[in-house]
Amino acid sequence: MSFSSLGLSPALLRALVAKEYVIPTPVQLEAIPAAIAGRDVLGSAQTGSGKTLAFVLPLLQRLQSVASSQPRKVKALILVPTRELAAQVGETLREFVAHLPHPPHLPSALKVTVVFGGVSINPQMLGLRGGTDIVVATPGRLLDLIDHNALKLTDVQTLVLDEADRLLDLGFADELQRVMALLPSKRQNLFFSATFPRAVVALAEALLRDPLRVTIQAAPSTTPDIEQRAIWVDAPRRTQLLRHLIEQHAWKRLLVFVATQHASEIVAEKLRKARINAEPFHGELSQGKRTQVLADFKASRLRVVVATDVASRGIDVAELPVVVNFDLPRSTDDYTHRIGRTARAGESGVAVSFVSAATEPHFWLIRKRQNLEIQIETIDGFEPTETAPAASQNNGGIKGKRPNKKDKLRAAQSQ
Ligand code: ADP
Ligand code: MG
Repeated sequence: MSFSSLGLSPALLRALVAKEYVIPTPVQLEAIPAAIAGRDVLGSAQTGSGKTLAFVLPLLQRLQSVASSQPRKVKALILVPTRELAAQVGETLREFVAHLPHPPHLPSALKVTVVFGGVSINPQMLGLRGGTDIVVATPGRLLDLIDHNALKLTDVQTLVLDEADRLLDLGFADELQRVMALLPSKRQNLFFSATFPRAVVALAEALLRDPLRVTIQAAPSTTPDIEQRAIWVDAPRRTQLLRHLIEQHAWKRLLVFVATQHASEIVAEKLRKARINAEPFHGELSQGKRTQVLADFKASRLRVVVATDVASRGIDVAELPVVVNFDLPRSTDDYTHRIGRTARAGESGVAVSFVSAATEPHFWLIRKRQNLEIQIETIDGFEPTETAPAASQNNGGIKGKRPNKKDKLRAAQSQ
């Protein structure tokens, strides 16, 4: 099956050829024709399975036929949970828009504007002068801009929620509610994620109108090719084990997840002291630093990024072969998103989780919920000596409770 049967314009098909995308992924195959026809879509498909184009292509297909009006009006709003994801989705949109035919007096067929917090609002306000057609935004900054009268949502025809379950989660609840209230009630909704917890599905259903549900099952042929491993280690020796693994396997590029911003700084510093090129990545860094670290990582100028869950969703780094859970993720859904940073677009990868006495029960829980077969390995020289009660003093960053509302709000703010 090729892209040509999905109802896309010759210009978009040419863009796909230029990008060397030949065969639509399963989620693209199902979602694109329905979305072009104007239906709502609730799309659930694995990490790295091409969900971005599953909404970008129909969006552009529908908008390119709308005659450009001056000033431009926001016809599509794409909400995402993190700044880096906003930038990434905006870039994909612009790459495809560049292939659309446009009248000679306009610089491009459609204007795409990306807005997110952590950077000065003034350039974003200037960028919105004269209007825009498509806005990619994190919810907080979008609302700030609306409060400044820099844009209106009254003409939005399509709303996209990328990483929809995260956006419908408690951490974004208030902001999302405000955005929803400003949107026309008659609109198309396209919601995508790799995970949809049951409670969130109920919330999503209340917002969707007769949606097409696209659920790409984790069949062997479509499961990302991730070799999942777990390794026993005493909590205080985790950095040592990480160094050992980096050297033993000569890993060229890896993303290491930790539980806190502090841990992100400390682990990166310890690696640097061992002459391993590493940087922290978390919500307290300046946006300039965050952008720089990610750009360096993508360009292979940086070997290790030690990140909090702010990097766990959506970010697409080609040829990232290894993800390490230095601290285990809090939720099993976070596990899915974290390890999904590797093995994207048909590549393969390795995901390694460190397990210590205190985090062992949490690991078994993840294993059970994810239906994993993996056993916990022991590595020579790193045999565990901790016992659970002693280790709970030094618990490797896992809190013994589910995050409460305050935790979630704090986590959302830190991003
Ligand atoms: P998801 O949002 O499902 O996690 P992305 O949309 O970020 O995945 O896509 C993952 C990678 O796959 C990207 O690098 C993208 O360019 C690539 N990709 C998307 N669609 C195709 C396709 N049809 N053929 C080949 N590569 C694709
Ligand atoms: Mg995505």
